[in-house]
Amino acid sequence: MRTRSHVEAPLPWHETCWNTLRGAKESGHLPHALLVTGPPGVGKRRLVTLLSCSLLCAKPDGRGLACGHCRECELLFAGTHPDYIEIGPDLESKSSEIKVDTIRRLADSDALTAHRGGFKVIVLDSAQNMNLSAANSLLKTLEEPSPDTLLCLVCEQPGRLPATVRSRCQELRVPIPSEAQAIPWLQQHTSAADAATLLRLAHGAPLKALALENDGLLSLRARAFTGFVEVASGVRDPIAEATEWNRQAPAILLDWLAGWLSDLLRLASGHPAPVLINQDKIADLRNLAETLDPRVGHHYLMQILEARADEHSSLNSLLLYESLLVKWARSFRKSDPPIMQRG
Ligand SMILES: [Zn+2]
Repeated sequence: MRTRSHVEAPLPWHETCWNTLRGAKESGHLPHALLVTGPPGVGKRRLVTLLSCSLLCAKPDGRGLACGHCRECELLFAGTHPDYIEIGPDLESKSSEIKVDTIRRLADSDALTAHRGGFKVIVLDSAQNMNLSAANSLLKTLEEPSPDTLLCLVCEQPGRLPATVRSRCQELRVPIPSEAQAIPWLQQHTSAADAATLLRLAHGAPLKALALENDGLLSLRARAFTGFVEVASGVRDPIAEATEWNRQAPAILLDWLAGWLSDLLRLASGHPAPVLINQDKIADLRNLAETLDPRVGHHYLMQILEARADEHSSLNSLLLYESLLVKWARSFRKSDPPIMQRG
């Protein structure tokens, strides 16, 4: 751990979680194993960092937060605290699997004993990536907990963990904040003019929204959306546009595309004030919604969702984009039979 984020206050939507953890710490009821869950971008790791530092700091403040100055905090800043261990998928390896050897190192009794007389904290990142042998090995550690050792499993998909592992952990779910909580926070941390749109593009997860802006994805989205509109109006060749889209991975582009179609269908539904994901594109979306047959739009959205679900498809992304954009262009040509019915 080499950041100072552990001396910051909890994020606004972490308050309830933080108070639960602090109460458990103060009453001596912290579990031996904590399973911190929640969707990507809600700050699970940040909360775990805050807790780890609070447990290791020699002089936490009145809110239970690490002081940032004591010897323990200094060791944490330097990434050399002997009682703080972070493990997770091997970043050098192609697969993101957590293998048994990684977990076995924990079973070494020395790894589980505090060296500096306080707590020992072990953070297991992306716990859902443990293979079966690794999970079985972890189970042994969970069955024989060491006193004053906290094992924090950070996990986006707890359903992928064996029930035997889950049942031995206390689960703490980090929520998606309300827009009323997230938007003011996002406005403080981003220069984007439209924080609400940024948040909706990130499915409500504020840290994911920040990453979208920082990775320059907003301008790529704007470029892809222009192509989407121009292909519909017949001024842009779908095959040429597919080459442009191919700069972007399907996981991201299909998510955008699904959002645009969902908004078009919301606008076509005749609701007087629909809540849109892409509020910043409302003028173009309104124009498109006037000429798109909603049944054709529904079929098209289903095809996008199928492609998105099939993330391990062997179809290359360029072919996928060409196919989707050609169908999109044909969706607006009244003279052609509707392409969707041809499959
Ligand atoms: Zn301290």
